[in-house]
Amino acid sequence: AKEPVRVLVTGAAGQIGYALVPMIARGVMLGADQPVILHMLDIPPAAEALNGVKMELVDAAFPLLKGVVATTDVVEACTGVNVAVMVGGFPRKEGMERKDVMSKNVSIYKSQASALEQHAAPNCKVLVVANPANTNALILKEFAPSIPAKNITCLTRLDHNRALGQISEKLNVQVSDVKNVIIWGNHSSSQYPDVNHATVMTPSGEKPVRELVKDDAWLNGEFITTVQQRGAAIIKARKLSSALSAASAACDHIRDWVLGTPEGTWVSMGVYSDGSYNAPAGVIYSFPVTCKNGEWTIVQGLAIDEFSRKKLDLTGAELTEEKELAYSCLS
Ligand code: NDP
Repeated sequence: AKEPVRVLVTGAAGQIGYALVPMIARGVMLGADQPVILHMLDIPPAAEALNGVKMELVDAAFPLLKGVVATTDVVEACTGVNVAVMVGGFPRKEGMERKDVMSKNVSIYKSQASALEQHAAPNCKVLVVANPANTNALILKEFAPSIPAKNITCLTRLDHNRALGQISEKLNVQVSDVKNVIIWGNHSSSQYPDVNHATVMTPSGEKPVRELVKDDAWLNGEFITTVQQRGAAIIKARKLSSALSAASAACDHIRDWVLGTPEGTWVSMGVYSDGSYNAPAGVIYSFPVTCKNGEWTIVQGLAIDEFSRKKLDLTGAELTEEKELAYSCLS
């Protein structure tokens, strides 16, 4: 039998956490033959709710779930974890300036970085979900210098999956037949969902999305804004932010990272930029990646047209600015 993998979820009593922990315990994240031990962290005001989630996990009698740690102690939460999904963050409340939210999150991610660095298992893989996800991940990386930069990522898979979903709806094809969209840059409304390399499997073979959609105005306009603003549309409809799709995307992200992407398929992940595609280096930027043996590699050599170039630069500039703002909060 396989040894259990320890998976940390921070903010586990929140909305995304509540959708995410049962998925992990069912094997959606790491596979149906991989036992897990869940580590759930939240802040003291959420301790009682967190304990309620733990009670439900017991009641669900998940065969793969070999233990649950529910705690408000960061060190206890981080000890020995192999995978860390960082969902906890300070929400932007009405009337709060962007800098105030940034400042709160910078201090949270700085302290959690130290705890992970000192107490997580070697080679722990980190996924940051809480917003501003890219910059929270960057702060985590900067304050956990002994964790390799390649182990620290942020979630843009939800945006990626949303793009697949929009193409599938537009063409009336199965979402599983659509692949290789790309989310470039920041997990914010400046992100660039790019379909220039995306394809659809049809009865007569694989076809470019651009060839099948035949509606450039839609692809260059409404498609992009729909993906960029999907989060707001969900809030409007549900009166709550997207949680099940965010949790599902977090599972997809970790599963593909650990178990590998299928041959010929790439996914989008926010990773520490080496300046590929002239993105700013030294920020967490979303790129197309393939994964093998537990490591991601940025897909190289894709042609970037002028329209895309501008969008890659715009979202890159926003990340550089966020990085500066985060640093100004530190000093
Ligand atoms: P959610 O579980 O809905 O969201 C958690 C975080 O994920 C937020 O930062 C949210 O950003 C972000 N997020 C990223 N992508 C998405 C997406 N596609 N859809 C929705 N959210 C997304 O928030 P809750 O308030 O329900 O739960 C947060 C938990 O964190 C609470 O249990 C709270 O106690 C805990 N917390 C922990 C802190 C700490 O660790 N020190 C500090 C504060 C809270 P956005 O805000 O932009 O929606």
